Amino acid sequence: MKVAIMGAGLSGLACALTLEKHGIIPDIYETGAQVGDRFVYAEIFFGVTARPARDCVTYLANELGIYLNPVYMIRTMSIHGPGETAVMEGSLGHSNIRGRHEKALEKHLQQQLQSPIRFRSQVTYEELLEDYTHVVVATGETTIARRLKNYDLALTVSMKGCTVSGSFDLNRVYTWLNDAYCPKGYGYLIPLSEKEASVVIAYPDYPLNQNVDIHSLWDKFFPRVCSDLQQALTVTDGFEINHYPIGISRDSRIGNTFFVGNNFGSIMPFLGFGQFSSLATGVYAAWDMCGLGDYGKLTRPLRKSYDNSLILRKAMEQIGNDQLDSIVKWLDTPVGHKLFNMKQVDLLRAASYLLRPWVGIKSLV
Ligand SMILES: Cc1cc2nc3c(=O)[nH]c(=O)nc-3n(C[C@H](O)[C@H](O)[C@H](O)COP(=O)(O)OP(=O)(O)OC[C@H]3O[C@@H](n4cnc5c(N)ncnc54)[C@H](O)[C@@H]3O)c2cc1C
Repeated sequence: MKVAIMGAGLSGLACALTLEKHGIIPDIYETGAQVGDRFVYAEIFFGVTARPARDCVTYLANELGIYLNPVYMIRTMSIHGPGETAVMEGSLGHSNIRGRHEKALEKHLQQQLQSPIRFRSQVTYEELLEDYTHVVVATGETTIARRLKNYDLALTVSMKGCTVSGSFDLNRVYTWLNDAYCPKGYGYLIPLSEKEASVVIAYPDYPLNQNVDIHSLWDKFFPRVCSDLQQALTVTDGFEINHYPIGISRDSRIGNTFFVGNNFGSIMPFLGFGQFSSLATGVYAAWDMCGLGDYGKLTRPLRKSYDNSLILRKAMEQIGNDQLDSIVKWLDTPVGHKLFNMKQVDLLRAASYLLRPWVGIKSLV
C-alpha cells in the first residue's frame, strides 16, 4: 500500500498520525512552506453542538488517539444580541491557535509525526493517482472535490478578522449576533493569549448580502466589541477571506481517494465549526486503509450533524434582530443555562428537529 496525503492541515496530519500508528508511512504533500502557513487566528471546539463528543479534546484523545495541545478550556461565553446579553457558564469547549504560530495545533500535530512533509509541493491530484494506491484529499479548499463533481456547495461565507491587543481572560469567549454588522452571521472574539485576541465577523454571501461592504460592517462592529469589553483594543494584524465554501461531499470516497476535512464536508453550516470533524475524518480514512473500519459508515454521524446544522442555518436566515434578542434573552433563563450544560442532550439535533417544520425542510441529505 502506498498512500499520498495532499495537505498537511488538521485532517491530513490526523490521517498521517493514525496511519503511522498502524505501520503505514504516508507521503505528505503540502503547498505551504510550513504547516499552518497563513495568518494567525484563534478557533474553538464548541462542545455544546459537537456530537458524539461533548468534550471534543478528550473524545479525540480517548476515542480517536489524537492528542491536542495547547488548548484552553472555555468556561464563559458572552452572547450579545442587538439589545440583550447572555453570559453562559460551564465546560463549554476549548480554544486553540491556528496558522503561523509556534503554538498552533498543526505545529503540535507535526511534532508528533515521523513522516516527512514535502513542502512547497506543486504535485497535482492526477499525478498522485498515477503513483499511489491511495490518495487522501486534505487540501482544506474544495477545488478537487468540486472538479470531480463530488461536492454539494450549500453556501459561501465572507470573513474579516483582526488580531487585537488588550487584556483577555483565556477562558472566556464572546459572540455577537446582529444583522446590522453580521447579517445572518455572527461576530466573535477568542483570546490567543492574555494580551492578544482574534476578532472576526463572518456572514454568508447570500443575494441579500450582495451589496454589503465588509469594511462598513467592521466599522460598526469593532466599536461595539470595544464597548462591550470596556477596552480600547488596538488592531495589530488582519485578514479577509471571500467565498469560503461550506458544503458536503456526495461520496466520502471515490475508488481509493478519500475526501477528508473540508473536502469531506466537515464545516458545520450553522456556526462554521470544522475542526472536530476534520480531525475525525482524517482518523477514519486511516482506519479504513488499515482495515479497521468502513470510511462511509464511520462518517455517517458527521453527515447527520451537517444535515442538522444546515437546518439551523436555514432557520437563522429567517430571523431578524428582534428574534435574535428573544433567543439571547431565553438563553439567559434557568432553562437556557441548564440546556447549555446538559451533557445527555444533543442540542444540534434537538433544535434541528424542532425547527424542521418551521423552515419547511424535512430532509436535506
Ligand atoms: C477564519 C476561520 C475561522 C475558523 N474558526 C473555526 C472555529 O472556531 N472552530 C472550528 O471548529 N472550525 C473553524 N474553522 C474551520 C476549520 O478551520 C476547518 O474546518 C479545518 O481547519 C479544516 O481542516 P482541513 O484539514 O480540511 O484543512 P486545513 O487545516 O486548512 O489544511 C489544509 C492544508 O492543505 C494545504 N493545501 C491546500 N491546497 C493544497 C494542494 N493542492 N496540495 C497540497 N497541500 C495543499 C494547505 O496549505 C493547508 O496546509 C475556521 C475556518 C476559518 C477560515
